[in-house]
Amino acid sequence: MDEAERAGLLVRPAACEMCGHRAARRRPAGHHEDYARPLDVVWLCTPCHSQVHGPGLVVYVERLRAALAAAEPLLARDLERQGA
Ligand SMILES: [Zn+2]
Ligand SMILES: [Zn+2]
Repeated sequence: MDEAERAGLLVRPAACEMCGHRAARRRPAGHHEDYARPLDVVWLCTPCHSQVHGPGLVVYVERLRAALAAAEPLLARDLERQGA
């Protein structure tokens, strides 16, 4: 994932995609729902990230999917712009 980010394929947003929280120093961490699709990343702040990996997983899957769906057109646009 770091390599894709360096190549500009992944743009790390300043805010958590789940709760919109903007950390002053720490940017959200990339969370993969499926490691076979490395560009399918949702960016989560630390509390949200531990929640999706914890017992609250089921509750948050729907919101994660919505975040992913919202991010896909943006990602496609970025790829296009870079001629990838
Ligand atoms: Zn969050
Ligand atoms: Zn994760």
